[in-house]
Amino acid sequence: MGDWKKDVQVLVHEGKISVPYSWTVGSTLSRFYCELRDNGKIWANRCPSCGAVFVPPKAKCIHCYGEPHDWVELPGTGTVESYTVVRYSEPALHPRQAPFVYGLVRMDGADTCLLHFIGDVEPEKVKVGMRVEAVLEDEREGNILDIRHFRPLA
Ligand SMILES: [Zn+2]
Repeated sequence: MGDWKKDVQVLVHEGKISVPYSWTVGSTLSRFYCELRDNGKIWANRCPSCGAVFVPPKAKCIHCYGEPHDWVELPGTGTVESYTVVRYSEPALHPRQAPFVYGLVRMDGADTCLLHFIGDVEPEKVKVGMRVEAVLEDEREGNILDIRHFRPLA
């Protein structure tokens, strides 16, 4: 009577838990996001030891572990180094409705690529090597989506 559990097939059901949380972006990214939000400017930082320029800025140089404390304003233009067309919507992963394009943009004056949206263009017309410029939101909140997307340069 008390041993009925030994013959039970225990099932496992899948589920999801939404966990709201907050985290600090640190002083380096805070400066980057505040400049973007308050002044509509995209800043990078440069490592004084090896000269590498990072956007988004880094607290530590990924090449020589130096401290990139030299700040440089970028012109907001760049080149698409790679891209992918997203054709399905997944609200937990993507902040936009499909179809949309994710691109790696090497901004002029920077040595790293920024992952962001490529917009104002049909996905089929996006190309590696395409020249683009940042389009900022009118109402900015201090995060990477203050850049709406990069669009082709006219
Ligand atoms: Zn360095």
